[in-house]
Amino acid sequence: MKTPISWIIDDPAPVISVYCEHSSKPTTADGRPHIPQYPNSMLFDFCDIIERHGIRGKFSVIPMPANKGDIINGIEGVERADLDEWLDCVKTRVMPAFSVGPEMLTHHKAVDLATGNALEMNERDWASTQSRETLIPYIAKAVSMLNEAGLHSIGVTSPWDFGIEVESEYEYSISYAVEQATGSKKAWFFLRGLRDRPNAKPWVAREDDGRTLISIPATTRDYIWATIDTPRTDDEYVCEIADQLITADGKAGHIIRVLETGGYPILITHWQSLMSNGLGTGLRVMDEVGRRIKEHLSDRVEWMSFEQITDLVLADKENYPKPVF
Ligand SMILES: [Zn+2]
Repeated sequence: MKTPISWIIDDPAPVISVYCEHSSKPTTADGRPHIPQYPNSMLFDFCDIIERHGIRGKFSVIPMPANKGDIINGIEGVERADLDEWLDCVKTRVMPAFSVGPEMLTHHKAVDLATGNALEMNERDWASTQSRETLIPYIAKAVSMLNEAGLHSIGVTSPWDFGIEVESEYEYSISYAVEQATGSKKAWFFLRGLRDRPNAKPWVAREDDGRTLISIPATTRDYIWATIDTPRTDDEYVCEIADQLITADGKAGHIIRVLETGGYPILITHWQSLMSNGLGTGLRVMDEVGRRIKEHLSDRVEWMSFEQITDLVLADKENYPKPVF
């Protein structure tokens, strides 16, 4: 069997940049204001890249991005036609290859489920003191909204490190909420990174009442993030960033190190990293990394979505034990 490889794309939302809304700094490191929206053409460019190289993985869709409305009823400052075009593109071009899931409701302020209003604290801080009683309805709402929008989803991504202080309750709540919202007894989630550890692989996080939750970690770093904070777009720069994941000769880089220690390369980047504050430098890095993987690793690795990885782990549970943190 070839080694699974997968790519985590955190933080996408229709048109809205949640990073612009929740970033603690108003500008990039070199002083340009964060752009509040990304044109749909950049999503189309992303789709061209994943289709060109056969890239698979996990793609977040934030259902109530930055507390500006939601994907069902409409988003403040976003034309309905653009919202529909974005969602349609995710369904037809992203989802054949990527497992889609919410990154909780807003990736910004927590939501009072009774009123829909924003609370003062962000979702990360809110989650840190919650239990299954409040986490289950919150997660179920996020999963339900995606499914209502026609985006089949049986997994979630943790905005920031949402839930890490109450991890066991959070894990119980994910599998319970996914079954409640979709009927699925299997679920996946992304919270942890397993970086620079040998044999880094996903694991069985919990089994409760016939439900199984699989934790899929990132095993590399988001080197593409650096493209947000520089006006550089030259080919040399694009190659420098790509080199950190896999060099042009296919012999070095974080992906190679993970493979050499027996682990699964599970790459991670963010929507804002690929958009590079409108310059799209990150998309070009992804294109180059995808090309290098295809050129050098086609006989060693196989691209998989998170749902495919979930099924792989479920078929061989005893070989995917929980690591010690
Ligand atoms: Zn995120």
